[in-house]
Amino acid sequence: MSADRRGRGRLVVLAGPTAVGKGTIAAYVRTHFPDVFFSVSMTTRKPRPDEVDGVQYHFVDEGEFDRLVTAGEFLEYALVHGLAKYGTPRGPVERALAEGRDALLEIDLQGARQVRATMPDAFFVFLEPPSWDELVRRLVGRGTEDEAERERRLDTARRELAAKPEFDAVIVNDDVRRASEELVSLMRSGRTNR
Ligand code: 5GP
Repeated sequence: MSADRRGRGRLVVLAGPTAVGKGTIAAYVRTHFPDVFFSVSMTTRKPRPDEVDGVQYHFVDEGEFDRLVTAGEFLEYALVHGLAKYGTPRGPVERALAEGRDALLEIDLQGARQVRATMPDAFFVFLEPPSWDELVRRLVGRGTEDEAERERRLDTARRELAAKPEFDAVIVNDDVRRASEELVSLMRSGRTNR
């Protein structure tokens, strides 16, 4: 396990455009590298058919989400795609870091910028699609959003791709296993490939 000189774990933020495969990479890391603490976000969006409360997300209603915002319980939170709120519960991440575990957040660009402002020692990784056409293909192929929703997500993706230079490292998601292992090796070494 890699921890810095004070014995704390390293906070690693994985961001990137919609449908680039952040969730798949995070799931791979979660399965194959159980010593990495994986933050489970809260969201106000409805679960998809294959999603289980407490696994991919903690699904909460607006009232509960807003109560947690007011109580300062989120490390970061954002309204994503203008539709649903997503946030990282602060307590579990801080406990993992204090125990010397590396922690991984899979969040959107707005959230990554908030973490950059409050935890500048974190390591920021941008997951990039092999190409724009491939990103569109993946978004359409997933089939979980209607056309208006896909267009909204592609608009967000265009803006998110432009933020690449803000990140410490860039990983191309050409293959889930290869990209996941590159992410873990970056987490462990703390080196940048920029
Ligand atoms: P989805 O609804 O497809 O699971 O996720 C939509 C977007 O929300 C993705 O870009 C994902 O990275 C982002 N997201 C998931 N959890 C969080 C979170 O806790 N905070 C922020 N800011 N974004 C999140």
